Amino acid sequence: MDSEEEFDMQDAAAESAEDDFYSGGEEDGFDSDDADVADYEFIDNDSDDSDDLISHRHQQNYTVLSEEDIRKRQDDDVTRIATVLSISKVAASILLRYYNWSVSKVHDEWFADEEKVRKAVGLLEEPVVPFPDGREMTCGICFETYPSDRLLAAACGHPFCNSCWAGYISTAINDGPGCLMLRCPDPSCNAAVGQDMINLLTSDEDSKKHSRYFIRSYIEDNRKTKWCPAPGCDYAVDFIVGSGSYDVTCRCAYSFCWNCTEEAHRPVDCGTVAKWILKNSAESENMNWYGT
Ligand SMILES: [Zn+2]
Ligand SMILES: [Zn+2]
Ligand SMILES: [Zn+2]
Ligand SMILES: [Zn+2]
Repeated sequence: MDSEEEFDMQDAAAESAEDDFYSGGEEDGFDSDDADVADYEFIDNDSDDSDDLISHRHQQNYTVLSEEDIRKRQDDDVTRIATVLSISKVAASILLRYYNWSVSKVHDEWFADEEKVRKAVGLLEEPVVPFPDGREMTCGICFETYPSDRLLAAACGHPFCNSCWAGYISTAINDGPGCLMLRCPDPSCNAAVGQDMINLLTSDEDSKKHSRYFIRSYIEDNRKTKWCPAPGCDYAVDFIVGSGSYDVTCRCAYSFCWNCTEEAHRPVDCGTVAKWILKNSAESENMNWYGT
């Protein structure tokens, strides 16, 4: 796969152009790991026979991440997007989640068509209805009337009372990771509900669950990172896709194949290993069936 080097060179050229654009030629606009992000956008993840790439790079092609490392990286990415796009960190984290934590994807989509991105993600610039509108307003869920300081609205302005909001958010958090893409409760509205609002209205317990989904999403929805599959291990592994051997060794000492997450199996390819595993499990099922 000789095109790999060409991609790298193109990326490097594109990147330095970006750096110049955003930081007036200084080197601090985008840090070096942006190259990784760009790499995986171009390289097909499905190929197993990447052994011929090993000779290209000699440094370790993966990094083991603790929960603290993950939170720091996530926060760095959010801060970077907030700075480059001149938006709040709350909005930046909604965008990153929507684009599976790819900094380069958020960046490219935003500058290609900001309006389209805002619409898709639910980041409104202007409220749809004025809020607050008068001294008293009606909650859109329970239809009770409240003084407007007892109601809250996302950027769209649709008013709901504190207790209806709290119920809505708590239900979403307990329904699963969909709570990371929460929208206004008004069925016709897709305005995003940000972390700031969620923090304001959740119990400690729900807040912890939400924060767990947030960090899990950063690993599980991101194409460059995976959790270590060893039971009870909390480390994740960040892998430079397209960089050669998939064998990685976690800080817990477990060695596994980053591509298929089975035990390390070099030089056998992932497809063959999958067939072995299937065959073994079919055989053991047969044994259960015919034995005793
Ligand atoms: Zn209400
Ligand atoms: Zn709304
Ligand atoms: Zn591990
Ligand atoms: Zn494998």
